[in-house]
Amino acid sequence: MHPMAALQTIIPPAAHPVGEVPPIEEEQLTPDQRDALKARIKQLMKEQDAVLVAHYYTAGEMQDLAIETGGCVSDSLEMARFGHASKAKTIIVAGVRFMGETAKILNPEKRVLMPDLHAECSLDLSCPADEFAAFCDRHPDRTVVVYANTSAAVKARADWMVTSSIAVPVVQHLKDQGEKIIWAPDRYLGDYVQKTTGADMVLWQGSCVVHEKFKADGIRELKAQHPEAAILVHPESPAEVVALADVVGSTTQLIKAVQQLPNPSFIVATDIGIFHKMREVAPNKLLLEAPSGGRGATCISCAHCPWMAMNWLSRLEQALTTGHNEIHVPAEVGARAVHSINRMLEFAGQAGINVRGKSGD
Ligand code: SF4
Repeated sequence: MHPMAALQTIIPPAAHPVGEVPPIEEEQLTPDQRDALKARIKQLMKEQDAVLVAHYYTAGEMQDLAIETGGCVSDSLEMARFGHASKAKTIIVAGVRFMGETAKILNPEKRVLMPDLHAECSLDLSCPADEFAAFCDRHPDRTVVVYANTSAAVKARADWMVTSSIAVPVVQHLKDQGEKIIWAPDRYLGDYVQKTTGADMVLWQGSCVVHEKFKADGIRELKAQHPEAAILVHPESPAEVVALADVVGSTTQLIKAVQQLPNPSFIVATDIGIFHKMREVAPNKLLLEAPSGGRGATCISCAHCPWMAMNWLSRLEQALTTGHNEIHVPAEVGARAVHSINRMLEFAGQAGINVRGKSGD
């Protein structure tokens, strides 16, 4: 046991199941259909003064479309910030729902659309706002720190929202102030932060269905076959996987590692959607998928988020045509949620920490 582990209280798993993880359904398009859809989307975006921001885990063609139309491909916080900096009246978020909500919280005056409102996140789903509020009410002496992968309502209940790149400095700061912490929702990232800082934390027991499936044994075997490979791990992965990493970091940090490290190959433990950007920035490097939970046997997600895979071009075209799939956040919820986000940004500014492009997912 880690010497600091005694300070960590694990709350029982939430009574609610995370729910069914949907099967991954990739969009099947002929090249002609794809071209026609992209042309129609571009026309609609122009007519509606819209900008497209896409997450690294979405399909490569969605990422390409974002770049071709002057948008961005990034992580959740940078997606919201890009939309804020843009003069466009509509922000299209190709990602999952909490990313759409974060974009709306930071841009309440803009219309935020998503290709599919069913694109959820197992971390967000694991942490219903009412149950989380009741839990926080039972620990009034603790400061509430939540990860970016949460609903607007959970962010509204929090004192701080943090990204993976700033979680450790914020919790260390709070610990130095003598504060005790509630952390939600990712238990693996919470465990990593607790072990690093030694803070007194209670952890909500959420997890990412993609990252928790990576297997340390499989990674060791792959490393034995590719001893020159660096191991890159997102901190939503289990501790035994994080322990093998040469680099632990957010999506943006892992992409930079592929670009900057001298290794000819990399074992990558995060969603395989990220390979699109990694191949673009480092075309000569060999990228290897970290083994997950027994492909073809027990693997559910197979290193690909089923909700991110819902971002189809045809659904984006429909959202723009019909105006459906708009994200709404009640004004009073947004006003409270923005406080927890701004607190992190102010802390980062004072501490000289750059959280730009280093969000949680
Ligand atoms: S990859 Fe995991 S953390 Fe990211 S959106 Fe999917 S379920 Fe959520």
